[in-house]
Amino acid sequence: MRAREAGPPHAEATGRDPIWLTAPDDPNGLVARLWPANVTKSEQGVLAVAGMDSLRLAAQFGTPTYVIDEDDFRARARAFRAAFAGADVHYAGKAFLCLASVGWVAEEGLGLDVCSGGELAVALRGGFDPARIGFHGNNKSVPELTRAVEAGVGRIIVDSPVEIDRLAELAAAAGVRQRVLVRVTAGVEAHTHQYIATAHEDQKFGFSIAGGDAFAAMRAVADAGSLELVGLHSHIGSQIFDTSGFEVAARRVLALYARGLADDLALGELNLGGGFGVAYTTQDYPVDLGELATGITSIVAHECAALGIDVPRLAIEPGRAIAGPSTFTLYEVGTVKQVALDAGASRLYVAVDGGMSDNLRSALYGADFSCTLASRRSAAPPTMARVVGKHCESGDIVVRDEFLPSDIEAGDLLAVAATGAYCRSLANTYNHVPRAPVVAVRDGDARLVMRRETEDDLMRLEVV
Ligand SMILES: *Cc1c(COP(=O)(O)O)cnc(C)c1O
Repeated sequence: MRAREAGPPHAEATGRDPIWLTAPDDPNGLVARLWPANVTKSEQGVLAVAGMDSLRLAAQFGTPTYVIDEDDFRARARAFRAAFAGADVHYAGKAFLCLASVGWVAEEGLGLDVCSGGELAVALRGGFDPARIGFHGNNKSVPELTRAVEAGVGRIIVDSPVEIDRLAELAAAAGVRQRVLVRVTAGVEAHTHQYIATAHEDQKFGFSIAGGDAFAAMRAVADAGSLELVGLHSHIGSQIFDTSGFEVAARRVLALYARGLADDLALGELNLGGGFGVAYTTQDYPVDLGELATGITSIVAHECAALGIDVPRLAIEPGRAIAGPSTFTLYEVGTVKQVALDAGASRLYVAVDGGMSDNLRSALYGADFSCTLASRRSAAPPTMARVVGKHCESGDIVVRDEFLPSDIEAGDLLAVAATGAYCRSLANTYNHVPRAPVVAVRDGDARLVMRRETEDDLMRLEVV
């Protein structure tokens, strides 16, 4: 993510409540983009999605609740397929996975990536075609690999020498020839936060191209009779805003790919991973999807021409860019407190009924979000506010800087935008706060797809 400058950007940029800038008076789509496509705000200031308003959502499902604009999620999935026509688009399930999202991804014709036995179990329970599943991870266990092989998972992305041996043995024992991609490290550092950058050399994922490990792994897979080397995989990071990182990675991975072909390896696929950035605030400028697709496919075509090789079958793995902007989190304000800062300044602390249990991204990565008053209209002047959660950590911040109406008070509903990716999937029960439910809204109809956790759920693991 791009570092946000000090101060509240919405007011700097617009001086207005971000939700009011919708398409007609926002030609650049700068602010409308933060919210799912079917979100509106009424004259009374009530936020609604696909015809279902926040007051009804809160009354029916309580708060906090993740609210998905199902059509927005599906439309993003379709848009990736259309933009990358001729390539395979796999949804990265770790962004947000449940039986409902597995179904949407299947219906929209995408493949699905998982990176643990648990995620694989959800995909299989959701009836997802195993042949269209990719299985990632730097430390897949023997039981996880066994299950994947037995289920007929289409691609296992191997990440270490020991895993190649393990998988070769398991596949041989199961009497199958398992298709495999080799995860390589291209030595590219995407312009992103260090904890979500994964292709520079000093990190746990992949085989190094520069050091020769990647080529050795390709040979090892090709030499294992129970494995079929189908291609190479590279994932350079997350929340990436331009194609330059993909360009460098594609060049390096394709050079390796060409070397493999020259060595008679039957390669056919190139997976360039995911990481396409989304807007969390008005300061984030994601690349247009069409430009992204054209950029990546033309880089690959150009490099292949230069290397004199056929263009491999391309695959990409967007997670955040499909799930993230489709969802907002609805909270209720519980307490409001004015805190004096230096030099006579002050900040309004607005505490909501969730926090780092339903959105860990601020605490984990210093991520920024945007929010709006969702339950009423206010004529009060905007004030610099920080939205915090109810947990026992001062880093329990939901929205670091936002201008909110100065009369915001207990009982108001707040909606935080772009919480569809890595929020529910990173949800936890810190302080024994039950995890929030997920509601999918479509055509005026709100459907619970994951219910709220209960105290009984929290107690279920206790052994007395
Ligand atoms: C996390 C991950 C993705 C998806 O990343 P997003 O930022 O959600 O697009 C894709 N591929 C791999 C291998 C990943 O680990």
